[in-house]
Amino acid sequence: MVERSIQSLPLSARRHWISNQEADSRAGETFEKKNPATGELLVTHARGRREDVEAAVASARAAFPGWAKTDPNERARVLWKAGELIMARLEELAHLEVLDTGKPITNAKTIDVPRAADTFFYYSGWATKLHGETIPVRGPFLNYTLREPLGVIGAIIPWNFPLLLAARKVAPALAVGNTVVLKPPEESSLTSLELGRILAEAGLPPGVLNVVTGHGEEAGAALVQHPDVAKISFTGGTETGRVIMRSAADTLKKVSLELGGKSPNIIFADADVTAAARAAVLAAFYNQGEICTAGSRLLVERKIHDQVLEVVSQGASKMQPGDPLDPGTQMGPLVSEAHLGRVLSYIERGQAEGARREIGGSSRGPGYYVEPTVFSGVREDMTIAREEIFGPVLAVIPFDDVDEAARIADATEFGLAAGIWTRDVSKAHGLASRVRAGTVWINTFNRFDAASPYGGVKQSGFGRENGRAVLEELTQLKSVWVALA
Ligand code: NAD
Repeated sequence: MVERSIQSLPLSARRHWISNQEADSRAGETFEKKNPATGELLVTHARGRREDVEAAVASARAAFPGWAKTDPNERARVLWKAGELIMARLEELAHLEVLDTGKPITNAKTIDVPRAADTFFYYSGWATKLHGETIPVRGPFLNYTLREPLGVIGAIIPWNFPLLLAARKVAPALAVGNTVVLKPPEESSLTSLELGRILAEAGLPPGVLNVVTGHGEEAGAALVQHPDVAKISFTGGTETGRVIMRSAADTLKKVSLELGGKSPNIIFADADVTAAARAAVLAAFYNQGEICTAGSRLLVERKIHDQVLEVVSQGASKMQPGDPLDPGTQMGPLVSEAHLGRVLSYIERGQAEGARREIGGSSRGPGYYVEPTVFSGVREDMTIAREEIFGPVLAVIPFDDVDEAARIADATEFGLAAGIWTRDVSKAHGLASRVRAGTVWINTFNRFDAASPYGGVKQSGFGRENGRAVLEELTQLKSVWVALA
């Protein structure tokens, strides 16, 4: 059932979520968000500024001692219940995600919403399982460690998988006793606000999760600068990551950064070439290519180059963008007019620098639609081979042997993910250990699980989300000494 709030557009105005209640922005300001599929007004949000962030952080700070001391079984129960409520509201949440981002409804229903719920189920289990150690030290002493929550976590997320990325930050932070102020992206704040309500319904006390909507340079920057925020957990663009890290230095707060990518997807001639080429289409164009791990550089062994290019071009031509609310649609519009302009300028640049446009590249309105675009004859020094486009644009690059593939794979400032397709086990594992990336997929692509650590190297950032790894980053160790004699 699609709920109350979605039956007519534009949606009713949304407000911040502070202390388990809606709140207007202190200055009474708002901003507008458009529906990417139509270009029409979708919703008006409260425009958060410093004073709104201050109210949210004060609420989170006041709630921290109580939540940190809450019985871990109770924290586990709240998180599990939140996962169940997310699943119970799957239709509505998926619908909101589509209206906000333009992603196909089938993807939202099968990935975004259920994976967000999984994240809550997974971290529910960890609430009772993270603990310190006893350490054998010299002398008559008992030494043990306590793993303590950090305090208020500032979570800042991008627009491409809003609910899922919010879940990845909120669930582990709450599991280990932190409180959170979440700043969702200005392009897609709807499901973050719903998450606040869902957690309140699950029994989360007021102030433990607060959501402040607004612009990055206003609400986001105020959160980063706030002295009572212990850590900023950021996912977004590399440039923004740099700004955040500089700004966080003033208060010496911890920072983790999940940033951009330009991931190589490498197909060797000894792979199941047709399967690899078909998978390369989804690797590049899933979610309109608006995915940080997109396999946006397709490295193909020269002797199968033309065969792969043909399969990829055919596959891309079948992914024509359409109405994202139609269950048959595989590709929706891009998230905003500004982003469409950016992606189109990269397509022009690719042509101007001499790459061959094999297919796609046209845009149409209303809405921010662009066709999946495949470039061949791409050289490593071209802009479309180096910069993150974050749209449906694929650069196909030939190579001759494994050493050349490894060299080209690393010829980027990013290091988020890589794909390797071969039937040769030694080659696959050898290359997996050579490639500088946070995640490597062998004979598959874009696999994620709440249990498996995920993050980048080089300018794709640092810190890990998912799995146990993030819990260590969201807690600090205290060493306690007890004299025994
Ligand atoms: P963005 O960096 O523009 O914005 C991300 C978030 O940061 C938004 O909420 C924005 O409001 C906020 N922000 C912007 N300026 C800020 C500032 N000065 N201080 C504090 N907050 C600020 O990124 P985007 O356009 O929303 O998303 C696209 C980028 O996100 C791409 O580069 C993509 O690769 C990256 N991304 C990375 C991952 C990952 O896991 N590594 C996942 C998804 C997206």
